[in-house]
Order: sequence, then C-alpha cells, then structure tokens
Amino acid sequence: MTTTDTQTQKQTAAPTQWVYFFGDGKADGTGRMRDILGGKGAGIAEMTNAGIPVPPGYTITTGACRQFFEAGGRLLDSIVEEEERALQRLERFLGRRLGDPENPLLVSVRSGSPVSMPGMMDTVLNLGLNDQTVDGLARKSKNPRFAYDSYRRFIQMFSDVVLGVPRSIFEHELTLAKKRARSKDDTGLEAEQLKDLVERFKRIVRREIGADFPQDPREQLARSRDAVFRSWNGERAMHYRRLNGIPETLGTAVTVQAMVFGNLGPNSATGVGFTRDPATGEPRFYGEYLLNAQGEDVVAGIRTPLSIERMELELPEAYAQLREITSRLERHYRDVQDFEFTVEEGRLFMLQTRRGERTGQAALRIAVDMVEEGLLTKREAIERVEPDHLDQVLHPVLDPVERRKHEILAKGLPASPGAASGVIVFTSEEAVRRGHKERVILVRAETSPDDIAGMNSARGILTATGGMTSHAAVVARGMGKCCIVGCTALSIDERARVLKVGGRALKEGSFLSLDGSTGEVLLGDAPTSDSEVVRVLTGKLKPERAPLYQRFELLMKWCDEVRRLRVRANADVPSDARTARYLGAEGIGLCRTEHMFFAEDRIPHVVTMILNAQEARQAKLLIERIKGDLAEAARSEKPRLRKELAAAQGKGGEPIRAFETALKKLLPLQRSDFRGLFLAMEGCPVTIRTLDPPLHEFLPKREQIQRELAALRGARTNDARKKRLLATLTRVEELHEFNPMLGFRGCRLGILHPEITRMQARAIFEAAASVIRSGKRVMPEIMIPLVGDPKELALQRAEVEAVATEVMGRLKVEFPYTIGTMIEVPRAAILAGEIAEHADFFSFGTNDLTQLTFGYSRDDSGRFLPEYVRTGILPQDPFVSIDVKGVGTLVRSATLEGRRKKPGLKVGVCGEHGGDAASIALFEDAGLDYVSCSPFRVPLARLAAARSALKRT
Ligand code: PEP
Ligand code: MG
Repeated sequence: MTTTDTQTQKQTAAPTQWVYFFGDGKADGTGRMRDILGGKGAGIAEMTNAGIPVPPGYTITTGACRQFFEAGGRLLDSIVEEEERALQRLERFLGRRLGDPENPLLVSVRSGSPVSMPGMMDTVLNLGLNDQTVDGLARKSKNPRFAYDSYRRFIQMFSDVVLGVPRSIFEHELTLAKKRARSKDDTGLEAEQLKDLVERFKRIVRREIGADFPQDPREQLARSRDAVFRSWNGERAMHYRRLNGIPETLGTAVTVQAMVFGNLGPNSATGVGFTRDPATGEPRFYGEYLLNAQGEDVVAGIRTPLSIERMELELPEAYAQLREITSRLERHYRDVQDFEFTVEEGRLFMLQTRRGERTGQAALRIAVDMVEEGLLTKREAIERVEPDHLDQVLHPVLDPVERRKHEILAKGLPASPGAASGVIVFTSEEAVRRGHKERVILVRAETSPDDIAGMNSARGILTATGGMTSHAAVVARGMGKCCIVGCTALSIDERARVLKVGGRALKEGSFLSLDGSTGEVLLGDAPTSDSEVVRVLTGKLKPERAPLYQRFELLMKWCDEVRRLRVRANADVPSDARTARYLGAEGIGLCRTEHMFFAEDRIPHVVTMILNAQEARQAKLLIERIKGDLAEAARSEKPRLRKELAAAQGKGGEPIRAFETALKKLLPLQRSDFRGLFLAMEGCPVTIRTLDPPLHEFLPKREQIQRELAALRGARTNDARKKRLLATLTRVEELHEFNPMLGFRGCRLGILHPEITRMQARAIFEAAASVIRSGKRVMPEIMIPLVGDPKELALQRAEVEAVATEVMGRLKVEFPYTIGTMIEVPRAAILAGEIAEHADFFSFGTNDLTQLTFGYSRDDSGRFLPEYVRTGILPQDPFVSIDVKGVGTLVRSATLEGRRKKPGLKVGVCGEHGGDAASIALFEDAGLDYVSCSPFRVPLARLAAARSALKRT
C-alpha cells in the first residue's frame, strides 16, 4: 500500500468504494450519485436499476480522479486492484475475456463529470483489439470487414487520445485508402483494404512514437483510463469550465463498458436523440442516427446523419422499443432526455441518458408544457428554466422586413435560435482575434469541440456537416448563440479562406447573416430586430399570435407569485422606463441624472456650469465673508470693506452670473425629464440620483482643445476665441483626474456646489407637482450618491428638504417623497447605522462598492481580472457576480446595521449585480427589499428572485 493510500484509509472510517459495477438489471450505484459517478455513470446506474437494456461495465469515481492528480498522475494501487476485480466480474458476467483470442471482450472507456461537458474530454472505443483478438472478432461476428474496421478505429482513437499522434495523420491515410478503393465512404472499404489500412496505421504509430502499438489489452485499458482522467485537465475542458463556471475540483469519473456495435451490418445502427426538440421544445421525438456506424460518427459530425423518423422504416422493432424506453425515461426523470443508443443486429442498447441541453425558447416551452401535462409543478417549472434562457428569448431576430432584401444562399439545420450577422472567419483563432472589435460569424467545415474559444467570440456559428446533436451544436445552444449546422451547400476552403455557396465565392471578411430559427444563411449584413416577446411587449405584435410570448408571460406570472424581492429597473429616459415596465419592472431603482446632461441641448449649459462653478463658489464665499466683516466692523473700517465688497462683486459677478444662468437653463429641461419618467412609471417609485460623475467627463477633451489652439496659432484674428479656448484648457487640466472613477464625484459635487443639488431637487419636485396636478400619482425618491460619512448625507438631505418645502409652499401642492443614499463606499457600509439615521432608504451601488472594496479600478481591471479568474485567485469577475466573501459581507452587515438603527429601512441594490442570478440569490438571503437592473434583465431578475425564494422554503 502506498503512503497516500494509508493516509486516505486513516481519514475515512469506512473504506471508500472507488469502482461501481453495473449489469444484469442491478447497479452498485444509483442515479443520485452524480457527484461520485459523474452524469454518465449515474445515468447508467439508474437505467440499469430500472431494467433498461444497458451494456454492463463499471464506473471509476470522480474521487479516484482527484486522487490520480494528487498522486501526480498515477492511480493508487488499491484503486487499480479494485478495478481489476470489477473487470474480472464483467468478464465472468459476459463469458468473454479481455484479450481472449477466441472470444474477446471489447470495452469503451468514457469520461463523465458531475456537470455535463459535452465533447470536452476524451473517449476510447473498441478497446481490447490487437493482432490476435481482431481475428477472433472476425470469426465470431462472421464479419471480417467489421472486425478490421473496428481495429483501425481503435488504433486511430487510442493513438490520438493516449499516444498523442494527431488524428489528422490517420484521416489522411484513410482518405488515401478510399481513393485507392475508388470509394467516397468508409463503408466502401472491403475487409482486405481495411486490413491493409490497419498495417499502415501501425506503421504510422511506429514512425510517430518510435514504438509499436501496444498489443496487451490490459495495458491498453490502464493507459486509456489514465488518459481519460488526464483529459479533465486538457485545454478544451479547462476552457469550457472557465466559460461555464464549473469548479476545477469536481473531477471526472471513468466508465468502462462492454462494447456493443452499431457497425455490424445493415441491421445495426447508432444514434442520439432527444425526447423533445431541443431547439424549439416541441413535444416530438427528435434525433438522428446512422446505419452501420459507430457512435463517434454521429456525435463527431463527420457524416451527416439521418432523421430518426426514418429508423421506423428501417429498424421498426428497435425503433418501437426506443420510443417506449425514452418516453419512460422522460417520465421517470420528469425532464427532457438526451440519449445515445446502439442497435446491434436488431437489438437495442441504451448507452447514455442525461438531461437535454436546450435553447431558451425550448426551455420555456418544455417547462410550461410539462406543467400542463401534469409532469411538473409550477415550482419545478420555475426551477427548470435558467435565467440565461430568458435572456435568449429576448434576443434579437433578423428583421422580418429587411431580411427580404437579402438573398438566401443556403439552408442548414437550425441548431440554436436567434440571429447573427457579421463578417465570416474560418478559424477559431481568427474569430477570437477579430471578435474583440467586430461582429464575426465562425464558419467551419465540421463542428468540433476545439472551436470552443472561437465560438465564444463569434456572434454566430455556421458549419457544413454535423447534425443537430453534434457536440459543437450542443455547445452553441448552451451558450445561447445562434448556430446553423449541417449546411451541406457550403464548400469551405480553409487554406484559401474562401467559402463557396449559392454560386458565390465569399472571402474571409465578407458579410453573412444567420437565422438560427430557420437555418437560413443570408448574403450580406441583414439588420436584426426585436424578438417575438419584445415585439408583443412593445405593442408591435398581438399576444394571441405569439405563442412564445404566451409561455413567457405564464412563467413570469408563476415567478411573480412566489418571489419576495421586488424588481426595479435602472432607467434614465422615459423610453427605457416604458420598456422596463413592459418587462415587469415595479419601479425605477436608479435614474443616473448625468446621462440627461449629455443630451445635445444641455451640454453647452452643463459646460458653462462646470467652467464657472469653482470661481463662482470662491466669489460667493468671499462676498459672504466681506459682508459678515462689514456687519461687525467699526465705522472707520466700513469704507474700506465696502470697496472690497464692490471689487469682489465686480470680479465675481461674471462667473456667478454664468453659473446661475446655466443652472436656470438646465432647470426646465430637467423638470421635463423627470415629468416624463414619472408619467412612464405611472405612480411606481422612481429613485433619482443626484449628479455623480467627475466633472471633466462633460468637458471637451484636452487633446481636442490643443488641436484647435494649434490651428489658431499665428492667426491674427480670433483672439477672443483663442483666449476662451486657453481658459477652457486651463480648467480642463485643473479638473482632469487620472483615475476618474475615484475622483470629485457623487455627493462631493453637491457638497461643494449645493446649487446643483438644489437645481435638481427643484426640477424633481416641480415635475412631481405638475404630475399630481394632472391627476396622476407619483413617488419620487431622491438618492445621494457616494456618501462615506453621515454628515455628507445630513447636509445634502437638508438642501433637498428645504427645496421640497419651498416648492410645496410656492405651488401649493403636497407630494410624497423620500430621501435616501447609495451605499457604495466601504466606509458607508461600515457606518451604516449612523448613516441610516439620515436615510429613508439604502441602495447598494455594488459597482463602486466592488471597486472600492477590492481597490480595483472599474476602468482598467479588465487588464488583469481575466488572469485572476483563470488562475483561480478569484472564482469569477467580481464586477459581474458579487464577491460573496467581501462585498457580500458588507451588504449583509450594512443591511443589518441600518435596520437595527432604523427598523423597516428599505434596502435595495442598483449596481450591475442586480441583474445577475447568483448575486440575486445573495440579496434574497440578505433580506434586501428589491434589486434594480437594466430593463432587459428585468425578466431574468424576476425569475432569479423566484428561484432564490423557492430555495429558501
Ligand atoms: C454603482 O456604483 O453600483 C452604481 C449603480 O453607480 P454607478 O455605476 O453609476 O457608479
Ligand atoms: Mg456608483
């Protein structure tokens, strides 16, 4: 026993079971053991226990995988021994032995992690074949062609996965063999030709690795098993895990299973399928198969398979049994199943079943249909739809009118809906390179899991071969990316970077548009338009003509029945507010007023306001001080002070006038902004934040002024303009901040220039008064940003309250309002109790709170954060999903402390995290009252809030 082994034994009371057998209607494991047996192993155990025909075998656990890596890439002796016992049991059970030349046992070695990672790890099939057993197999099957075909496949796969000899070398040799045999297909190769091919393959191996292809089946098995474990840390798998947030620590199980053959002749087949359509959710049996083929042919997308309905004609009995078993599996799991099967000489075997990946559209339909069919409760339906699915159904589609102007070049299989248009690229690397700045469509001959990075960068994916269940199509669907596969009209020359289709030759960089719902490929850059759901919500389509919308509405209704968190939207203009209302927002959680200042008709006034703010402030302070001195001065002093006062008023008059005039100009504009928002929100609460960003953001760029000045240099005329530009340049330079996200922002502005806060408060309250006068309801909430000390809030609150009293008195209208603060500075979170004394509500600005808690600038953290995530320093980008340990703790403690001082304090969040499902779970747990997010994320937030509420009950 090794040392590590002894340690393991000491730590665990009962000896750990590393290997789980299945066969003969019984399995050691169960369907609930995903974490230990992986999805595949657990599915097989469950099927076996349910009496479904599954080839027997055993699963080595994910724990063994972790041990494997801990021991530096070696399986512990005790696990190897346990495996040997399982293998012998399998041999006894089947009456066949691994390596027996007369009656050889052949096995497959497959990966299977607890979370589905389609095609990201390795598999070896037909293991156990060597120069002797191949003849035994030929005799037993009475089919030498099949035996040699299986052997050449095994050499190819084993060499690729275990020995590291590239698959393409063998593919090339296979192509040459087909040429020699004048055959287009592998099936055209005779036994003798395949036998010759095997010899050639073995020579390739000798040449490439300097050793013979291993003939000992037990060695083949041990090396394949280890290679499959190792593929957990392969580049593809790691990339996929990063993209999908799958923990590195899970590990993969390895399932060793007796081979059954779909390539034994015309009565054999292999296929994959779904119990419902994974793209649309339509309740129809859906799948693909190939006669006389092995599973890898279907999933690798090398041959375009046939639709499963044809199987009813070709293999009627196996088809009927497949329908019966898969329906049973769907009812058993109460979810859509994605299954793999093989028919060996008319006899059906199920190889795998798992939860079917689906598009957003399909997820909605399946969830709603299954409730209607009595398979699911509403609660379960909510749990079955992922927040990202909702995002997908709000995705744009090709504009129905504009698309008619674009020639349809070809039609493929609609693997994943949505629309995409962009320039075509032919390699994953190119997609990654160009995808940063352009919309790209990745065009590939075959779908392959190696394309994962490129697929991630592309807007859409288009392939020539491969079916709806090819791995890359499944991945695209999982990513919610528009994807068309099996578009056989494409002829791709990757080397010349040219795509020939519909009589045209398109070079890399040409525009194509994809309709992922119909499979149509259009020439040119077709514009996209709103999805069906959005069209109904905006009144452009009647709900009764929109089945997708109807399901969306129903699911949203179910969510609203169970969620506790309210959902608001971040919106600054009435049109966004209206969209937010359509999508179910119950108020505005953040109106960033600075966005209003950027409008063309305001920016000159904003610039004047900023350029004069400082001088006006100093002049006012000086005037106040002299006036104070004057009031208390001895008579002899007064003439001098009066002179000083006149001088100060003369000098300061201009900036004060300019500053105040600018504010006066802005007041009515802001008033109408706020009135528009109040009306759009029809009496729901509207949180308006006083001005926040650093002032220089509104000013012309330094370089631009310098360029203009350079152009004027030497010109006699335009002296006045030059002077003005110079003054502006000086001010711009004074205001310039190296790190704008930490500068003269938020309430700091309002403290130094209370006139700005007062102007905004006046505009808000006058708008509220006017809305009330017109007989409508209004609920303004004034929010003070970037507060770090209770005194800041107290001062700003006093300003706002004074304006409210003044406006009510002057206009003789009473209106409700509250004043609260953002909590976005860690000090504010720490002093939450004291701050709550001056606040009617808190709203966590988790963007700034994250920035300031970590000390990462929002502006440049993109330079290092991806590496932090990649290397596991951080579990994810904390600006996307809340940092549970740090920022999350501040949110919890500030909420508790705030409410301790002020019971019933309303608390929400309006940072980007308000639209992130994982963060919403934390906000639910922390007892927040609402989340606020961008309008299009509102449905997602409603669903995430409902799912979090359900988790707590
Ligand atoms: C925040 O900081 O979370 C926030 C909502 O404010 P902004 O993004 O405007 O700084
Ligand atoms: Mg902020």
